Amino acid sequence: MFPATETHIPSATRSLMPIIPRPELVFMRGEGAYLFDQTGRRYLDWVQGWAVNCLGHSPAAVVQALCEQASTLINPSPAFFNAPAMALASLLTQHSCFDHVFFASSGAEANEGAIKLARKWGQLHKGGAFEIITFENGFHGRTLATMSASGKPGWDRLFAPQVPGFPKARFNDLDSVQALIGPQTVAIMLEPTQGEAGVIPAALDFMQGLRRLCDAHGLLLIVDEVQTGCGRMGTLFAYKQYGVEPDIMTLGKGLGGGVPISALLAKEACSCFVPGDQGGTYCGNPLMCAAGVAVLRSLLAEGFLDATRSVGALLADGLMRLSKEFGLGEVRGHGLLLALELGSDIAPQLVEKARAHGLLLNAPRAHCLRFMPALNTAQDEVVQGLDLLRQVLRETSEAVEDAPAA
Ligand SMILES: *Cc1c(COP(=O)(O)O)cnc(C)c1O
Repeated sequence: MFPATETHIPSATRSLMPIIPRPELVFMRGEGAYLFDQTGRRYLDWVQGWAVNCLGHSPAAVVQALCEQASTLINPSPAFFNAPAMALASLLTQHSCFDHVFFASSGAEANEGAIKLARKWGQLHKGGAFEIITFENGFHGRTLATMSASGKPGWDRLFAPQVPGFPKARFNDLDSVQALIGPQTVAIMLEPTQGEAGVIPAALDFMQGLRRLCDAHGLLLIVDEVQTGCGRMGTLFAYKQYGVEPDIMTLGKGLGGGVPISALLAKEACSCFVPGDQGGTYCGNPLMCAAGVAVLRSLLAEGFLDATRSVGALLADGLMRLSKEFGLGEVRGHGLLLALELGSDIAPQLVEKARAHGLLLNAPRAHCLRFMPALNTAQDEVVQGLDLLRQVLRETSEAVEDAPAA
C-alpha cells in the first residue's frame, strides 16, 4: 500500500478515485504469463486481470485482430451490421445451445440485459411476474440491479434502496430455492461456480434440480458465466459439465481476452426483446468483437481446452500437495478456476508476501486464495508458481512458529 502521508504518494495517483487499495507498483508491460513493473521486475501473474486474460498478456492473436480491425473499422454504430459482430455471434451460437446474442461492454451490463429480458418475458408470458431468485454470496456486478441480484454480505444496505425482486436462496440447497418460488417468480439466476464467493461449484444434482424446478414452474434458468465461461472451467462453457441447457447465459471477462466485451445469449423461445428494449452505444462494436473472434477461435483450436484441463489438473494436484504439507484446507474448482482454503484469515498476508516473491495472487475472501492463470499457461510456469507459493507458505509458517506466545 502507499504510505498514508500524502506527500509520499506520487502526484499522478491522486487524480484517481481510491476504489481499491493498490500496491506501490505500476505495471508497464505484459507478456503471456508475466507482468513487468516500472523497475523492469517480472511477476508470474495468476490473477490475469481477474480471469480476463484467458490467453495471457498481449497475446499475438488478440493484438493482431485489434490492430487489423482498428485500421479497418472501429465503430459504425450499433444501428448497422458489422462483420466481426456477426462472426462472433455465429461462433457463440454454433458452440452453445443459444440462438441469439446481444453484445455489451461489461459483465454487469450483460447481466442487466439478462434481468431485463427475463422481466420482459414475464410481462409477455407470466402475467407480469418479475422476481428472479438469486443466491447468498453470489456476484453479478456493480450496477444497482446487479448489486441487488448479488448476495454479497452488506450489499443490501450499501447504496440503499436496492432494486426489488431478487429474493436470495442458499447455494446448493434446492429446498431453499423451492421455498421462494411464488406467483411473481420468473427466473432463477446463478453462477455455475460462485467465483467471488471463493470458487464454490454448484453440485451436479443441484444444477439439474434447478432445471427441473424451472421446467415444472415455467421459469427461466439464467447462468451468469461471466467468470466461468470461455474455457475457464476446462469446457467452453461451464453449463456443459452439467448436462442441462439454460435458457439465458451471460459472458464477459475472458470473452475479449483483456478488452471490454460481454454478451447476453438467449434461446429463441425467450429472446423477446423488440427494437427499443435494449441497446448501448458500444454494443457489438467491431473492434471489441474482432478481439472476441480471435479469442473464441483460439479456445476452439484443436487441443486447446485439453491442454487447459491438464495444466489445471497439474495446478490442482500441486495445491493439494501444498495443502497437505502445510495443513491447509480443501482445493476447489475445475479447469483453471481454483481455490485453496487456508483455514484462517491469512490470505491478504499471503498475497503481499507472494508479490514480494514475484507471484501475483488473488484472495476473494480472507480465508482462501483463488487461482486464475492464463488458460494457455505452460506446465513449467505452473511448477514455478507452485514453488514460489511453497516458499511463501514456508516463510509464513516459520513466522508463526517463531512468534513469541502472546
Ligand atoms: C466479474 C463478474 C461480473 C461483473 O463483470 P464486470 O465486467 O466487472 O461488470 C458479473 N458476474 C460474475 C460471475 C463475475 O465474476
